[in-house]
Amino acid sequence: MFVHDVLIVGAGLAGMRAAVAVPSHLSVGVLSKVHPVRSHSVAAEGGINAAVDPSDSWESHLYDTVKGSDWLGDQDAIEILCREAPGDIMALERMGALFSRNAEGGIAQRNFGGLGFPRTCFVADRTGHALVHLLYEQLLKRAAQVYEEWYTTALIVDAGVCRGVVALNLLTGEIAAIRAKAVVLATGGLGRVYSVSTNGLINTGDGMALAYRAGVPLQDMEFIQFHPTTLKETGILITEGARGEGGFLFNARGERFMQRYAPKAMELASRDVVSRAAYQEIMEGRGVDGCVMLDIRHLGRAKILERLPQIYELSKIYAGVDPVEAPIPITPGVHYSMGGIATDIHGATSLPGLFAAGECACVSIHGANRLGGNALMETIVYGRRAGSRAAEVAEGIETSTSAAVADEAVARERARIDRWLAPRTGERIGVVREEMGRVMAEHFGILRSGERMTEGERKLSALRARVPETVLQDRGRLFNMELIDALQLESMIDIAGAIAASATARTESRGAHARTDYPTRDDANWLKHTLAFRTDTGVRLSGRPVTITRIPPAERRY
Ligand SMILES: Cc1cc2nc3c(=O)[nH]c(=O)nc-3n(C[C@H](O)[C@H](O)[C@H](O)COP(=O)(O)OP(=O)(O)OC[C@H]3O[C@@H](n4cnc5c(N)ncnc54)[C@H](O)[C@@H]3O)c2cc1C
Repeated sequence: MFVHDVLIVGAGLAGMRAAVAVPSHLSVGVLSKVHPVRSHSVAAEGGINAAVDPSDSWESHLYDTVKGSDWLGDQDAIEILCREAPGDIMALERMGALFSRNAEGGIAQRNFGGLGFPRTCFVADRTGHALVHLLYEQLLKRAAQVYEEWYTTALIVDAGVCRGVVALNLLTGEIAAIRAKAVVLATGGLGRVYSVSTNGLINTGDGMALAYRAGVPLQDMEFIQFHPTTLKETGILITEGARGEGGFLFNARGERFMQRYAPKAMELASRDVVSRAAYQEIMEGRGVDGCVMLDIRHLGRAKILERLPQIYELSKIYAGVDPVEAPIPITPGVHYSMGGIATDIHGATSLPGLFAAGECACVSIHGANRLGGNALMETIVYGRRAGSRAAEVAEGIETSTSAAVADEAVARERARIDRWLAPRTGERIGVVREEMGRVMAEHFGILRSGERMTEGERKLSALRARVPETVLQDRGRLFNMELIDALQLESMIDIAGAIAASATARTESRGAHARTDYPTRDDANWLKHTLAFRTDTGVRLSGRPVTITRIPPAERRY
């Protein structure tokens, strides 16, 4: 029997930071479907934002983030992020983070899109790698119990309170209850709902689906970030740090086309603006083989190898381009989910006992568009806050749930898994998953319209009906990754439905949600969050006001 005071699902930066924040007299468990250092945070490249320079300020960070969010971010949550970020960077440094240095030996900072100050701290272009390994060391020091390669299939809810999870041990096939007084979901993003994405195969929106099925609303799911620079045909991210270090974008005519779209900020406008510009250039025939070009040659070999070593390698290996000698072919691609499990500023969800942090959550820092470098900072600030608050809640509770409730939950999940493993005939899971990815890309992409989205919703409903009829070829119980694919597909089809319904309903263009039939922002009707609830008959939508404390809505220009 597994019992903890606090259980954290997810061992990326948000989950590990949450675990480290739980005081040592409490028992903490951390559960991850992959080894912690393989969590997707390890792929983060360009850096993490904090106003650590004395000539910068948290107020300026706040302003940039609110403007970047197209005024949909909640300003109380953003203020906490910006005020607490410098202290968290110092805490990471004290733990041993080897941030790149400036000429004076201080923490170096680079430009990132939408920032009014070079505010992004970094470890070359491998920031996530450095921080994940750092926090894994802290997790070991904290002596947390790590359930590595365990897949969470459901939350345990006892009398309206979350009291643990049911999880499948991939190695042994065991299905067990892991009981806890408080649970933190830190399960990362959903990029794989789309056919091509910068995200790894593990980013399937599981935590969002777990919460959604337990009645917790998903907030602002229509806001999917398309990153301006992903490597031709692969979806591999080319960090914004490349433009932050001085890289240019140009089209087939050799024009720095950002001049037309964002004459002041140019390549360092916010991501939604640069992505739409690149997309428009390609669509209007000024692309080069379906791409535009990113040029960093003028930075010179030494700087490229010092500041952007990973970009150098990725370009050479995956596009056959040496960026010291030639421009890199890039195209906009799916990258990040601004939306997620709705939480308050302590990471608490509407389900007592359940918290969420990191990319799976929506405390609403990013609103309609995230600024690069703010996601990593969110994992640290809000991971810490969610871990602390979950610990406080756990301290006030005498016992975790009864064994009987846990046993019932395990029996339900065992029946679900047995159904998947039972012999039957039908189509393979991958067929439905690929079709879903294509529908999302074609109907809920960079530019959207009511007609295309309504058609997309119809196609998704048809796909949803096919999911239970799909079959596994591997019926074994040990390390059955096809079974995990099936469970992930169930998560993704739920999440895709929430994205589709939320996007179709929002009849305006704001941040990353750009509609050809409603091309302008409509504050009178849409300065509000979308909340999506799962019901037996489909998605139910409602709204929630945006928290505006300091910066009234204004037109966004770069
Ligand atoms: C290529 C790339 C580069 C990026 N670069 C930057 C950057 O430079 N700066 C920046 O600010 N942002 C960046 N981002 C975004 C940022 O990296 C992510 O938003 C952030 O790292 C997410 O961290 P997380 O802890 O929320 O989730 P993750 O790191 O994705 O961790 C999720 C965890 O949940 C676990 N999990 C998921 N489902 C289950 C389940 N069912 N059962 C058990 N465990 C589960 C996983 O095993 C994993 O441990 C980048 C994103 C990508 C894709």
